[in-house]
Amino acid sequence: MKLVVASSNPGKLREFGALLVPLGWEILPQRALGVGECEEPHGTFVENALAKARHAAAVTGLPALADDSGLCAHALGGAPGVYSARYAGEPKSDRRNNEKLVAELAGMADKRAHYVCVLVFVRHAGDPQPVVAEGEWHGEIVASPRGEGGFGYDPHFFLPDAGVTAAELDAAEKNRRSHRGQALALLVDRLKNRRV
Ligand code: IMP
Repeated sequence: MKLVVASSNPGKLREFGALLVPLGWEILPQRALGVGECEEPHGTFVENALAKARHAAAVTGLPALADDSGLCAHALGGAPGVYSARYAGEPKSDRRNNEKLVAELAGMADKRAHYVCVLVFVRHAGDPQPVVAEGEWHGEIVASPRGEGGFGYDPHFFLPDAGVTAAELDAAEKNRRSHRGQALALLVDRLKNRRV
């Protein structure tokens, strides 16, 4: 069974493949099939993930999997949320995004934040019953960056139970704990138990 993945991120493709190939899926990156990036115009993760999955399925005629993710700070009403990649504007920059996040939270007592990942699987572009799986990863934002691993907001995303930031975890440990890892595990479970 072939599955197009609506992402060009090699790390994500590896993670998706590790869990889905054993289920009998052949994973094809959308770029290899000539699918371009899709607009992400919506205000929620699930709408953007669904748009990306539908687009990839429509262009290729194959079942498709897409994800959308971001960081939500509690004291900022869930910002940067779906705007996480470009929080500090164009061109997108992790450094400027992190500076802006730390500055926005500077006067706030509540430093809690969580990562969200929403995965959407469609059997075809018009699938009336997409499979949706969501994962959350909770932590708090620290002003001083720590660690060299991960990407994005990870050096500022502190995990009180582990006493480290997400950037201080090795890749396998991050995948086990992260929003994306949790969403993938749930998706795999849902796909395994699906009857149609
Ligand atoms: P995308 O869904 O891969 O486009 O991710 C959106 C943005 O959310 C990224 O550019 C990062 O800024 C942020 N983000 C999502 N997941 C993570 C993560 O695991 N670590 C750090 N930042 C993340």
